[in-house]
Amino acid sequence: LNPLITTVTKTTCPYCGVGCGVRASMQADGQLAISGDEQHQANAGRLCVKGSALAETVSLDGRLLHPKIRSNKSGADSQAQRVSWDQALDKVAQGFGKIIAEHGPDAVAFYVSGQLLTEDYYIANKLMKGYIGSANIDTNSRLCMSSAVAGHKRAFGADLVPVCYEDLELADLVVLVGSNTAWCHPILFQRIARAKEARPEMKLVVIDPRRTATCELADLHLPLKGGTDVWLFNGLLSYLSRQGATDHGFVAAHTNGQEAALQAAQGCGDPEQVAKICKLDVQDLLSFYSMFATTEKTVTGFSQGVNQSSSGTDKVNSIINCHLLTGRIGKPGMGPFSITGQPNAMGGREVGGLANTLAAHMELDQPVHRELVQNFWNSPAIASKPGLKAVDLFHAVERGDVKAVWIIATNPIVSLPDADQVKRALSKCELVVISDIMEKTDTNAFADVLLPAMGWGEKDGSVTNSERRISRQRAFLSAPGEARADWHIMCDLARRMGYSGFDFSAVHEVFDEHARLSAYRNDASGVKRFFNLAALTGMDKQAFDALQPVQWPLSASADGAEKTGVARLFTDHIYAHADGKARFIATMPKAPANATSEEYPLVLNTGRVRDQWHTMTRTGKSARLADHVPESFIDMHPQDALLFGVREGALARVASHWGSLVARVQHNGGIARGSIFVPIHWNGQSASDARVGALVNPVVDAVSGEPEFKHTPVRVEEF
Ligand code: SF4
Repeated sequence: LNPLITTVTKTTCPYCGVGCGVRASMQADGQLAISGDEQHQANAGRLCVKGSALAETVSLDGRLLHPKIRSNKSGADSQAQRVSWDQALDKVAQGFGKIIAEHGPDAVAFYVSGQLLTEDYYIANKLMKGYIGSANIDTNSRLCMSSAVAGHKRAFGADLVPVCYEDLELADLVVLVGSNTAWCHPILFQRIARAKEARPEMKLVVIDPRRTATCELADLHLPLKGGTDVWLFNGLLSYLSRQGATDHGFVAAHTNGQEAALQAAQGCGDPEQVAKICKLDVQDLLSFYSMFATTEKTVTGFSQGVNQSSSGTDKVNSIINCHLLTGRIGKPGMGPFSITGQPNAMGGREVGGLANTLAAHMELDQPVHRELVQNFWNSPAIASKPGLKAVDLFHAVERGDVKAVWIIATNPIVSLPDADQVKRALSKCELVVISDIMEKTDTNAFADVLLPAMGWGEKDGSVTNSERRISRQRAFLSAPGEARADWHIMCDLARRMGYSGFDFSAVHEVFDEHARLSAYRNDASGVKRFFNLAALTGMDKQAFDALQPVQWPLSASADGAEKTGVARLFTDHIYAHADGKARFIATMPKAPANATSEEYPLVLNTGRVRDQWHTMTRTGKSARLADHVPESFIDMHPQDALLFGVREGALARVASHWGSLVARVQHNGGIARGSIFVPIHWNGQSASDARVGALVNPVVDAVSGEPEFKHTPVRVEEF
């Protein structure tokens, strides 16, 4: 041990959904040292470069330290003025109260974030759905995970992730679809790499239009044409059926809908036709199909390349269909695996942080669930219909249907599609409240009220990672200025609005209520509800502080001290649909919503770079992280660059129907002809506005509401 270390706090990395355990050591000279937690099951002591640089991101530079009110968003006095917490919260409570009284509960909304802790999310959802009485609370997880949520619900009857990280190591075939795991989930990728090193016979297939860093480990890379995933997996489903890979016993006993799904799949044609549509070499396609057909232990991991599409939900179900046909689910080393983007997208899903869910994995459209939740909350109201999903929400703000919005821990003027529309909406909105850790962001410029929130290292609570593992984020820094925890701010507001039910004095009390709700009349509807934290109820502060990472569902030892989680779901082949069976979904392939044209001949694909996170409000502080990719860029194929007259290294303008940006042209070698790639992270705070969100078409999946970030027609011209 470093003798300078005075205290060590075990916490969880605040970036990606891998959810690595972190040891934060405050040293005698006041410096923070970060290392991986060797006892955390997700990472066993390893951290990627972003996690390792956490100490470089916790400075107070640029922090919002005091509540502020802006009296005029566009006039000479547009500078926000410091006020007391009482003044700020009174303004929010009065503003929300007046609008609700005059226009009803659907005239207000919350837009929250997968960065929030579960306890923050729980209070936001309870306040909006149980007290204000609207379901107008949506989250930036809509932008990354909602197609997986919708696909899980259609197939399994609830939003359930069947597998665990260990399955990726146990598999003989790992298929990664639309996932640059090497950069976006580095520790998970390292686990796959180590497993492959130990068992060279293990195969990795990467399905991605770009040749990414993940492909370096792949036995086979299928650079499919963007948006053709349903053709590819429907083709696989037909192939599996023809090759006799169907697990007839499993399909007959535990599923419904196989015939319709197969019929739809057969409509996609034979492998030659599929290869043509997907722009793949037919031998490569057949090689993948054959590997899948003959490898029992197969995990198919998928991420934003699948989800962020106008047919994202169908893409998810086309993958799940192949696992159902072969019975490869609920057993070690096999299953479909949604790899979550954000640190607590899963926790948000657990408390109902999406506009179309209720709480504790219960549903808004089920009267028995609504009655149960309202009864548990003893609340004056309960939302009875789905609220507005992210993209629709900001359109409703622009129309004036939503007159007050509270944005928490997210930066939609950078991250939403058609991001300038969000600007227009917020500039017109009667009351914009923003809680954030940073003072100056693109979105904060439009706030009427700014509320300082605690950040990572200051706040306490829990998060859930991609394999359903609940871990603690623990505080080891004092709150700067007047910053408060998000759950605390919302409880203060709720009390000011006259609502009871928000008298929590510490975060463990919020977690306890969340856990009790998950267990409350859990069998009331006669359908198995998998999300049940009964074993985590009744924890006092000490027990909550000592909580070790654990997967749900879980059980407790007789004395309650030991909690044992369940690694994988559906081992008993019971699903959450009323009949206990899983569903095949007939998936009809369709092209992306907006096709290229003479005016916009190229396809814009967006995504992450290895060393930045979201809109860079935190990772942007680290010079070391900036070194990897110091500025935004346009990655394009050299022949396209030649065709459109742009030189490598020159500045070029990318323009879509919705907006434009200027960045430097690069030939990184991984992009196919006809496409370009621009990263999502750069914002409008620097000299040139590099928000790629301003260009992205505001098209969404009809089922999930997830935007099509991977396919916007654009043109590129030298600047
Ligand atoms: Fe953090 Fe994800 Fe890196 Fe783990 S893999 S250290 S959770 S960013």
